[in-house]
Amino acid sequence: MYDYHMHTSFSADSTASMEEMIESAIKKGFKEIAITDHIDYDYPDLQIDFSLDFENYHNALEKNAQKYKNQIRVVKGLEMGIQKHILNECMAAANEYPYDFIIASVHAAEKKDLDTGAYFENKSPYQSYIDYYTYVYDCLKEFKDYSVTGHLSLIDRYKKYISEPVAYNVYSDIVEEIFKLIINDGKGIELNASCYRYNTEELMPSIEMLKLYKELSGEIITVGSDAHSPEYIGYKFDYIYDLLSNIGFKYIATFNNMKVDFVKL
Ligand SMILES: [Zn+2]
Ligand SMILES: [Zn+2]
Repeated sequence: MYDYHMHTSFSADSTASMEEMIESAIKKGFKEIAITDHIDYDYPDLQIDFSLDFENYHNALEKNAQKYKNQIRVVKGLEMGIQKHILNECMAAANEYPYDFIIASVHAAEKKDLDTGAYFENKSPYQSYIDYYTYVYDCLKEFKDYSVTGHLSLIDRYKKYISEPVAYNVYSDIVEEIFKLIINDGKGIELNASCYRYNTEELMPSIEMLKLYKELSGEIITVGSDAHSPEYIGYKFDYIYDLLSNIGFKYIATFNNMKVDFVKL
């Protein structure tokens, strides 16, 4: 199994050491994991500091990849929080160290945080969705230094800020444009399984979106637990691999030096 999204104490929202995460993955029988700590420039919620000590992070990745190389492959990754007004910084950071794999994630839109609910203030549910996916599209039109887009339907996690559900067909056209852009650029998506940690059932992207991606000939897909502590590494991956194969995916993607490879499901 291949878990392509997890955090360590280099991220503000995790206290697990990199060694702890790697050793737990070895115990669980993983062949390969990607460590993908956060960098979120100009994150609107000032209560949390999503900056990254790039040099020490890179050294730790190199050191641990070497240390554990006979037991597991440690992919040198990054979760880049992208926002329209900081894409130049994101591009510079993506190219400063030799990463294997970069997840591009939109955690904030229009300079407002989704997690605190600031983004949803004074917006109808309909407008929240349309504007969110349009924002993701606009970012990905400019930003190309990534491997996969992170948790594309993240907005679904924030139902508590939305007064009524928004039907998928309201925004599926924009999602289709996003997928076409991703596929055309030779990039991919991740299937993010952190819903189980949040006790919700919503995989990100949703099953409907995964089907659309497949229909559009999207091939590149990674699976990530988004674990911030060892117990969630690879959580429910058996179920997820089955689900992907039922949708028609034959391979999952792995990355080395920003180049994609495929493993049979
Ligand atoms: Zn994220
Ligand atoms: Zn993450």
